Amino acid sequence: MLVELRNTTRKLCVIGDPVLHSKSPLIHNTMLAALGLDYVYLCQPVPAGETAAWLSAAKCAGYAGFNATMPHKEALVPLMDGLDPDARLYGAVNTVCLREGRALGCNTDGLGFLRALEDAGVRPEGRKVVLLGAGGAAKAVALKLAQQGAERVWVCNRTAEKAQALCAQDPAGRLAPADFAPETLRRLCREAGLLVNCTSLGMAGGGGQFEDLGFVDAMPPEAAVFDAIYHPAETALLSRARAGGHTALNGLGMLLYQAVFALEHFTGASIDAAAMARRVAPLLAAEA
Ligand code: NAP
Repeated sequence: MLVELRNTTRKLCVIGDPVLHSKSPLIHNTMLAALGLDYVYLCQPVPAGETAAWLSAAKCAGYAGFNATMPHKEALVPLMDGLDPDARLYGAVNTVCLREGRALGCNTDGLGFLRALEDAGVRPEGRKVVLLGAGGAAKAVALKLAQQGAERVWVCNRTAEKAQALCAQDPAGRLAPADFAPETLRRLCREAGLLVNCTSLGMAGGGGQFEDLGFVDAMPPEAAVFDAIYHPAETALLSRARAGGHTALNGLGMLLYQAVFALEHFTGASIDAAAMARRVAPLLAAEA
């Protein structure tokens, strides 16, 4: 996309490794243009181990802030001058605001997930949730669900120790580790009001596929299914859920809303999140 630059234009970016596939520049530059804000949002590869060096460089170069993806989210935590409650809860930062030489670390992933659910009329309070995965995305989702009053979140992961470590971080004790065996997933899904996929299974470009999706058919008809994957827009998991009459959501809403909330942090602007998501979603769909 074309971006207009002036000498006064303020800089934002996403850092990561790999990061060149990131949709964040498209999303943020579209939002900035729509809002008439004099910022530009760049894509900045930063290798693992260079997080602190990047932070100094960004301060020196007058960046207003940046987003972070793998492998920097956790490495940023001890480098921050302050953390918002969600960054502290997850022990991970996805948004850094730089003001007067100080770095404030925030995390908008969990709120983005929650808002995407809310848009579809799905409220986690009192629901039993089957969460697949225990990586970075699963951590934000699990802890946010627990905080929002989900009755029980079973964290089902291939690597048992990672599920156990995640569940041990929940102060409310609502998270419970479980294995990834098809029979376990089927058993837990019979009681579930919500199923969330935070594994890379189903992702375009070699994320692998579920060998057995029978657990989807075990869910009660009113249960909703959320897949954090947004490329492809419809994974095999979501197709199976839709065929079974379940509310089925992909990860696009989560991606868009975490960006909207990050931009509010960066600029201080109050953004109509739903209107902005409606504007950006078709651009992302066209790119997919
Ligand atoms: P991550 O930290 O690398 O975690 C990957 C997870 O997938 C782990 O739990 C891993 O299990 C599991 N997994 C990978 N291959 C598997 C297989 N063959 N069988 C079973 N489990 C497998 O990645 P992440 O950052 O959490 O991302 C996870 C997914 O969420 C990705 O598809 C990503 O695109 C999506 N995501 C979406 C958004 C959004 O805004 N919509 C944001 C972040 C991430 P082990 O622990 O056993 O390795």
